[in-house]
Amino acid sequence: MPFPAPGALGAAPRPGPPRAGFASIRAMAVPKQKQSHSRTNKRRSQHKAPVPTYNSCPQCHSPRLPHRVCPECGYYGGRQVVAEGSSSEEGPSQQSP
Ligand SMILES: [Zn+2]
Repeated sequence: MPFPAPGALGAAPRPGPPRAGFASIRAMAVPKQKQSHSRTNKRRSQHKAPVPTYNSCPQCHSPRLPHRVCPECGYYGGRQVVAEGSSSEEGPSQQSP
């Protein structure tokens, strides 16, 4: 089988916008300047996840997130707002069919 003529394979212009692919890649955005170590470190300084702060419950003295109902005793603000033992990830978002 002879070789095809130059431009006979894959060189025909396709109608429409260029599709994503190897043949349609022309140029990418290139940074104009090198990013300094200072700027890189400033960006990466926010990458560490914060450690959650725990307070002790004034009622039962178990660790508890601040401004939250105590998961152990259900107290908040000096009074019981959740029945004890029913605060196990239930919440108002009950799944209904
Ligand atoms: Zn408590």
